[in-house]
Amino acid sequence: MKIDILTLFPEMFKGVFDESMIKIAKSKGLVDIELHNLRNWTSDRHRTVDDKPYGGGPGMVMKVEPIDRALKELRSRYGSTNSLAVLLTPQGEKFNQKRSKSLSINDHVILICGHYEGFDDRIRSLVDKEISIGDYVLTCGELPAMILCDSMIRLLPGVLGDKDSLLDESFENDLLEYPQYTRPDEYNGMKVPEVLLNGNHKEILSWQKEQSILRTKERRPELLK
Ligand code: SAM
Repeated sequence: MKIDILTLFPEMFKGVFDESMIKIAKSKGLVDIELHNLRNWTSDRHRTVDDKPYGGGPGMVMKVEPIDRALKELRSRYGSTNSLAVLLTPQGEKFNQKRSKSLSINDHVILICGHYEGFDDRIRSLVDKEISIGDYVLTCGELPAMILCDSMIRLLPGVLGDKDSLLDESFENDLLEYPQYTRPDEYNGMKVPEVLLNGNHKEILSWQKEQSILRTKERRPELLK
């Protein structure tokens, strides 16, 4: 998978992209992430990417031209019709595990991080999708881009050591994961459920399934619908 990220703050990605699963996926050649400074597609001396909003109002708005040029170049560089450009915006479709899966099957994803008051609305017509990571407003789209990357990359075949770990995870089959325990089997009077210690694989599976449903009912009943 190839991920191009259009950003005003490429430095923000350091650390997050150099640790854990993203680092492993990059080193195995399962994902290639390229960070692009949006200012590379400006044409004026000051490398301007924003301007005052028409009609007045606070703050600055991201200009359409640099993003249009960048998208054209990145799409043609990749040379595939299978490129998906995603605008990160609090006004987009809410990100979840299903959306992550459907994004992760694309060969080429371009993530566009906003800043300031947001985007010139014409930019929406240049992209394939608008995604929000939740009903709150962040300063910029870099953190949302990192979240999308982490979530998509761990779904790529070969990234997780044990591919089965994806199967029981929360939101798989619209369920939350069952409770997990590790040693010691008793801590400050809190015991690990007996069934997990008895070695009966069938009983353990059925307990996990039951707990998964109970937990979902308790915490996220709307998922069961
Ligand atoms: N004025 C905009 C509005 O009310 O919709 C919010 C702009 S926000 C301060 C600046 C940028 O951060 C956005 O353009 C977007 O790229 C990013 N951003 C902020 N919150 C986000 C969210 N919940 N999901 C995705 N991107 C977000």
